[in-house]
Amino acid sequence: MKYEDGATRPDSINIQALIDKYAQEFIDCGKLIGKNGLAVGSGGNLSIKVPGGILVTSTGSALDNLHSNEIIFVAEANREKVYFWGSKGPSSESINHWTIYKEMPDVKAIAHVNVGSKEDKNIPSTPKEIPYGTIELGYGMIPLFKKTSTIFLKDHGVVTIGQSLLEATNLLIESADKNKPFILPFVKPFI
Ligand SMILES: [Zn+2]
Repeated sequence: MKYEDGATRPDSINIQALIDKYAQEFIDCGKLIGKNGLAVGSGGNLSIKVPGGILVTSTGSALDNLHSNEIIFVAEANREKVYFWGSKGPSSESINHWTIYKEMPDVKAIAHVNVGSKEDKNIPSTPKEIPYGTIELGYGMIPLFKKTSTIFLKDHGVVTIGQSLLEATNLLIESADKNKPFILPFVKPFI
């Protein structure tokens, strides 16, 4: 996966204005996740669909202590590249978020933590572990998301979709079990 800073940055979109508009929502939702014990190191990520692309948390950011310069605009993503604008690279899982938004136009926000699901919630799981940061993982989630807004990635964590970041965050808090953190190997976001 190759990331390029703003290679296809759309001139017509004021990216900084979008970041300014949504930064507080990211920061507040991240804090809520942290307060509920679900922010595990720099694991997990949040995103919102915006005109011309998506806003997503940066690689290496801690959800419970987000800063506005850790909100990255992704203008386009495909199997080989993620085109972004921001001072840091986007989350290594941006490609998964992008794939869900592309295939499911009604989805407006996505939240994810590297934490297991609560036993009693019957959260559907992907059948096998799919390497994260791959487009395959995005496509692996979609059949489950067509049925429900909360899913579990086997041996990895919970992902939720919603009409707003707060809705996705609240679903995450309802479903993820803070006693089941997954520590995943770090994936270098740049090639
Ligand atoms: Zn993850």
